[in-house]
Amino acid sequence: MKRSIDAVHVDGRRVFTRVDFNVPLEDSQITDDSRIRASVPTILDLAERGARVILASHLGRPKGQIDSGLRTQIVAQRLSEIVGRPVTALRETIGPVVDRAVDSMHPGELLMLENLRFDAREEANDPGFSRQLARNCDVFVNDAFGAAHRAHASTVGVAHLLPAYAGRLMNLEISALSRLVDEPEPPFVAVIGGAKVSDKLAVLDQLIERVDALIIGGGMANTFLLARGHAVGASLVESSRTDDALRLLTAAERRGVAVELPTDVLVASSISANKGQSVDVDEVSPDLAIYDIGARSAARFASVIADARTVFWNGPMGVFERPAFASGTRAVAEAVAAASAFTVVGGGDSLAAIAQLALASRIDHLSTGGGASLEFLEGRVLPGIEVIPDAPEG
Ligand code: ADP
Ligand code: MG
Repeated sequence: MKRSIDAVHVDGRRVFTRVDFNVPLEDSQITDDSRIRASVPTILDLAERGARVILASHLGRPKGQIDSGLRTQIVAQRLSEIVGRPVTALRETIGPVVDRAVDSMHPGELLMLENLRFDAREEANDPGFSRQLARNCDVFVNDAFGAAHRAHASTVGVAHLLPAYAGRLMNLEISALSRLVDEPEPPFVAVIGGAKVSDKLAVLDQLIERVDALIIGGGMANTFLLARGHAVGASLVESSRTDDALRLLTAAERRGVAVELPTDVLVASSISANKGQSVDVDEVSPDLAIYDIGARSAARFASVIADARTVFWNGPMGVFERPAFASGTRAVAEAVAAASAFTVVGGGDSLAAIAQLALASRIDHLSTGGGASLEFLEGRVLPGIEVIPDAPEG
């Protein structure tokens, strides 16, 4: 655990609070505000203790340019609705406008800076930019777990200039994910799906060392099926990764890890088909593509999950955005929700599936980090976490 905000006196002080409000947007409308909600405990705690809370986040990928569809006004407004307090959104991150706004804040007030990534110096971890961000503030609180794997001006740079503390969400993420890294209770079952193997190779390599069973579904299972000699027709597949897939399967076997791949799948001629056809994995015809796992595989995966004491799930089992190909993901989500294990789900699309199915309350920990959660599970040291001093022992 990292030094928590409980350990700092904030009354009347100006607290630079890095949050991860990088929520999914469609036409500048928020489609899922869970990342905003996840930082509310930190924000309200600071405000109620009389801090002047200066919130900062990135939103989308503006790549150092101003993008009017990605202004933090959108997320500040939603935060304001959630907490029932005004949240002033500025159109600048640094400079005289910010200086004046911070000067006129009262204790307990909330202010939100503009999108940090409108300025290229944020992702460059530019020391001058960090100094500008820090200069009106007394304390740094990092609650942006989802950005902790990046060494940017607002995550790492500022932490070198102000006394740094972990927000409540940051420490919650660290303690939940640590249970998967440090002596997870066996049987530990990881369920990995999603589109591409290449995104998840590093985490698969590490999980192999710790899990008792590895369930592989989604588009990435196709690469494993191909590696095992099954024809996958017109499916999404990374033929250049079959060697990696074989290497993983061999490593799993050597370690005695049970690997579960689909034995039946739903195929169709296009993603927009209204219905898939259920076939065995060795019966995929060349003109059809795999869009979901089949019912037999779903039942098998659910039974492995039911026997687990620790479960990590990342990545849907199929193209769950289409109702015709959502049943594999639903079966896995329901099995994870029903499991008596300690359960953690991570990944934007996996969380969207959990939300769609209204199962959120039955999962022990929904990780707000996508890339950050996976890197944490790889056992990597995340730079945004490393710069915060550890909590005192005991
Ligand atoms: P997460 O966001 O949970 O980490 P990913 O981004 O890795 O998950 O993968 C999610 C995407 O994978 C979804 O858009 C889904 O449609 C896609 N996907 C899953 N299975 C398949 C498949 N068989 N073929 C093509 N795409 C798939
Ligand atoms: Mg995704």
